[in-house]
Amino acid sequence: MNQIFNLFRLQQLDSQLDILSTKLNDLETLLQNDDDLQQSLQRLAQQEDTLKQLSHNLSNIENEVKQQNIKIEQSEATLYGGRVNNPKELKDLENEVTSLKKYRTVLEDRELEAMLAVEEQTMILEQTRQEHQQVNQVFETKNADCLREIEQLRKEITHLENEKQILATSIPAEFLDRYQQIRHSKKGIAITGIIDKSCAACGTSLTGGLIQESRTPDKIILCPSCGRILYGG
Ligand SMILES: [Zn+2]
Repeated sequence: MNQIFNLFRLQQLDSQLDILSTKLNDLETLLQNDDDLQQSLQRLAQQEDTLKQLSHNLSNIENEVKQQNIKIEQSEATLYGGRVNNPKELKDLENEVTSLKKYRTVLEDRELEAMLAVEEQTMILEQTRQEHQQVNQVFETKNADCLREIEQLRKEITHLENEKQILATSIPAEFLDRYQQIRHSKKGIAITGIIDKSCAACGTSLTGGLIQESRTPDKIILCPSCGRILYGG
């Protein structure tokens, strides 16, 4: 297996992927700049957030009511348990139970208010969701072509990435590492062909000896000018 050819093929896939990814990115950015959709998404997020806060508040109050009930049960158990006989103490306990119950009413009122607030916000959120669906439908109709193109690009990218994955597994790590390293430092192009006895990437004329050498399988020959791997075919 000629590893230089494999790298050249890998480069073709990578270059294609670079072009498609840029295109996809541009289209996605274009769609993200849709004001109506963005505002609608923002409204939706706000209403969701408000519901979350209100639900949290409700569960706190429910907890307080629960704690208050426990306190009342405990005080009543002492009051009616028969272990306290002192009239003064009994009176104090009675007062305590009354006051605990009074505060429980306050808490229960708050609980009811919190429940209503959650119910109301749930309806508002549902309404906002429906409105968002409408905005989204308008958006999808308006951008149908763009969305189709994005879907197509994603498919192509997945297909190329799978192909790349399969190819990469057949290339030894030392070749791959070298390739990645050069690709990283040379604007995405690590390996290049030879056109008219010159490096196809930078245009430098190559000697006959170098061109001959670049046809040796599994041997990495670099362009003396740009430092990219030469693929002599
Ligand atoms: Zn070059």
